Amino acid sequence: MKKGISASKGYAIGNVVLQESHEIIIIEKSISDVNSEKTRLESAIHLSREQLILIKNKAELEMGADKAAVFESHIMLLDDPEFMGSVESDIESNLINAEKALDNTTKSFLTIFEAIEDEYLRERAADIKDVSNRILCNLVGKKPHEFSLDSHNTVIVAHDLTPSDTAQLDKSKTVAFLTDIGGKTSHTAIMARTLEIPAVVGLVDISTSVNNGDLVIVDGVAGLVIINPDDKTIKEYELKKEAYENEKKELHKLANITTFTKGGKRIEVCGNIGKAEDVLKVLENGGEGVGLFRTEFLYMDRDSMPTEDEQFEAYKFVAEKLQGKPLVIRTLDIGGDKKLSYLPMPEEMNPFLGYRAIRLCLDRTDIFKVQLRALLRASVFGNLKIMFPMISSVGEFIQAKEIMKECADELTKEGIAFSSHIDTGIMIEIPAAAVIADEFAKHVDFFSIGTNDLIQYTLAADRMNEKVSYIYDPLHPAVLKLIKMTIDAAHANGKWCGMCGEMAGDETATKILVEYGLDEFSMSASSILKAKKIIMET
Ligand code: PEP
Ligand code: MG
Repeated sequence: MKKGISASKGYAIGNVVLQESHEIIIIEKSISDVNSEKTRLESAIHLSREQLILIKNKAELEMGADKAAVFESHIMLLDDPEFMGSVESDIESNLINAEKALDNTTKSFLTIFEAIEDEYLRERAADIKDVSNRILCNLVGKKPHEFSLDSHNTVIVAHDLTPSDTAQLDKSKTVAFLTDIGGKTSHTAIMARTLEIPAVVGLVDISTSVNNGDLVIVDGVAGLVIINPDDKTIKEYELKKEAYENEKKELHKLANITTFTKGGKRIEVCGNIGKAEDVLKVLENGGEGVGLFRTEFLYMDRDSMPTEDEQFEAYKFVAEKLQGKPLVIRTLDIGGDKKLSYLPMPEEMNPFLGYRAIRLCLDRTDIFKVQLRALLRASVFGNLKIMFPMISSVGEFIQAKEIMKECADELTKEGIAFSSHIDTGIMIEIPAAAVIADEFAKHVDFFSIGTNDLIQYTLAADRMNEKVSYIYDPLHPAVLKLIKMTIDAAHANGKWCGMCGEMAGDETATKILVEYGLDEFSMSASSILKAKKIIMET
């Protein structure tokens, strides 16, 4: 058995087809006719472009425009004046053959890309290698690699697969693929997930550990490969595979369905996000909006505050992706267990009861206003709502709204657009707020119950301390009573009530919450489809 990185979930049992390496040995040759060498290069580029257009069209049909975009960037690289210019000038000034000049430029570009810290950009080195290899094949008159699979249930095993290799996989025959190298964000992994072909990457030496025809089990959930398994293991995995596929198929039918209970009540099932890109997963999993954007994650893993423009871009990105679906953005909730390296905070005996969230923001209006301005500016790009965390008194909410108004006035003076009405709500995560929810409901547009904190404060059981986790019970009658009070208070005042704490994705609580009248559930993307199913059965 071998353990690698799960790049795409699912199970497969099939026979190995080893992808041979199509490395071409490059020999430096001196040339005398620069023009004819440049013409050779141009013809190879021309042929590469034609091949890539065909691959791109195929990818567009099978995987959608989004994923085919990688080939658009391959085509663009063929026209890139910096890349191609460097190859040509190497031919001209050093009087060397096109193969060697192409290899020199590729290597120097790869050195730059592979040194980049950002994993996503580093993975783009694979794209450069892919395009360069294609031009090289065309230069030497070798057909770039095409898969010719003659048997079904094929598991492709390779040292590495390029994005164009992946796009050419015949989905009707290929059941999985395995590679020695690669990470979760390589295009190969991204495409495997889009094609929904189970894949395990980063297996180190799988390509030299198996032979053509070997039977393998690919466990894309755990990132495992079992080579030549016994009958008992095969049976076990056949059952796992069947169960996995049945559940996925069933659940996915719900992705585009608007959620209603059996009794006909509309309930929004949304996703929680921490980074702007997370919205994509929410949508893929049938999310009907974002019920909690934990913006503090924009402030983490860096050494200074994100600027107004940086925040604006992140909020705008999510709002646009949601195309009018609701987007609840929570203002900065720092403190408690969430610290910023560049913002000195006082040592506290009880940080969860201390200087955090709205308390900090009302004190540090310099920080708060930057965020509010970014939020207001992004409001014109979608259905954006603003939510304040850790509110314990009506006064805090009114103060927060006043600061928001100051920001709005500034923007008006500067001639910068924002929506004329933005719903504003609060998190109900302090028991006091739940108890006086009827008061709050007169002032706010909505509530979202933050059960992660509400439970710890109600039961006096630290959410971080495993020694008291047996006390931390979402279904404790006191917690349920506070939830019910909050929902009733919202409804009595014509407002809606959601929940964005972990309890919203807890399958054991879904039915109760529907019965209590909760209007919106917001949870991690992977729980959405299951929650939709339970709600529709309630
Ligand atoms: C909560 O308290 O339930 C919540 C959603 O906020 P966080 O987990 O970020 O404190
Ligand atoms: Mg909280």
